[in-house]
Amino acid sequence: MHILVVEDERRMAELLRRGLTEEGHQVAVARTGLEGYEIATSSTFDVIVLDVMLPQMDGMTVTRRLREARNQTPVLMLTARDAASDVVAGLDCGADDYLTKPFAFDVFLARLRAVSRRGAIPRPVILEVADVRLDPAARRVTRAAVEIPLTPREYSLLELLMRNPGRVITRDSILESVWGHGSDVNENTLEAFVRLLRLKLDTREPKLIQTVRGIGYMMRAG
Ligand code: CA
Repeated sequence: MHILVVEDERRMAELLRRGLTEEGHQVAVARTGLEGYEIATSSTFDVIVLDVMLPQMDGMTVTRRLREARNQTPVLMLTARDAASDVVAGLDCGADDYLTKPFAFDVFLARLRAVSRRGAIPRPVILEVADVRLDPAARRVTRAAVEIPLTPREYSLLELLMRNPGRVITRDSILESVWGHGSDVNENTLEAFVRLLRLKLDTREPKLIQTVRGIGYMMRAG
């Protein structure tokens, strides 16, 4: 396989280059995010191994830019951080899988094979319902091209609804997903909260957030 490794730590980059070459792969190495992006767009690779923390341009930005440029080369992200939110952000920006450092080389090889075999998952980088656009990487929402400032909780609720257009999300799942498990938020608070989100989002037709009486809420599918 033709593999691009984007890694600024010299020892790690050398380890990967040597290990992959020994496995019979052709390896190109980039030391900054910008260099990685430029090499990735000027040549064709079977898979890109991309560190998250990089000088000039971080790995998530590199991935997002590649996907925006319709480059669907599979991306395996290497992260020193294993916080769930970072993983979600990594996958949201268009990466196909991630591996937390430190890792065993044979685990790395197995993941690499899996990612390259199944190819890049076509995943919308931007969620769209009707004229609402939500960019999970930038946590930015617009309706009819006008930016809508949302609080973090309003954003979480909208993202949950937009990932499931046309499906009813129960009040319990909303409470659990937006406020966390075991929170003592009651249904009146949730209703008030949805009202506020509607005031920001549903200022025009069609009204997108629908109440499903006695059950929960739903985002109209387009
Ligand atoms: Ca790094």
